Amino acid sequence: MKVVVAKDILKANDQIAADNLARCDRAGTYTVNILGSPGAGKTSLLERLAVHLPADVKPAAIEGDLATSRDAERIQALGWPTVQINTGGGCHLDANMVAAGLDELNLEDIDLLFIDNVGNLVCTASYKLGERLRIVVLSITEGDEKVIKYPPMFQRADVVVFNKTDLLPYTDFDLQRAKNDAKHLHSATEFFEVSARTGAGVDVLADWLVHQQAQWAAASHR
Ligand code: ZN
Repeated sequence: MKVVVAKDILKANDQIAADNLARCDRAGTYTVNILGSPGAGKTSLLERLAVHLPADVKPAAIEGDLATSRDAERIQALGWPTVQINTGGGCHLDANMVAAGLDELNLEDIDLLFIDNVGNLVCTASYKLGERLRIVVLSITEGDEKVIKYPPMFQRADVVVFNKTDLLPYTDFDLQRAKNDAKHLHSATEFFEVSARTGAGVDVLADWLVHQQAQWAAASHR
């Protein structure tokens, strides 16, 4: 019997992810992997971000979903080039699926590519997809203890976006504790506080993202 252990699978995945990254770099596409639980508000956040992106920044999205295309339809309604990846019940996107998604996009015409991952705080953390930036969306209703309960997710996050901040007065969510825990896991993590429902704070996140993309583009002479 041949036994394939997760380590080998992840190694193969990392190689394909590196290829995806190189491909996006060549095309001048800055790719952002968005992770979080089901219902954290990843797709709603993208809808709000769309409003705040400058007209000269061209966005697109790869939408990961177990079976439906409901999220992809929401993003397509924004006028963004959108690719739907159905994982067939799989609980995460892998680099191979994203490579197939990249095939369907005209990367030369895309500045910011968002990958809206499958809702999951566990295994999505282990799969590099070829992204330049990892954003974890954690909503206030999930509880601040999610940070210490799911360490790999927050160890590998570049950015944590606290969503549904309009609900802070109605919960015991301790924002400072969540930030302290996340910093303990990854000291360089950046934090943003938003409400995708009301739109509060999304402009600040959008400005920061556009700045990151522009800095990267300038550094790589694009
Ligand atoms: Zn999974």
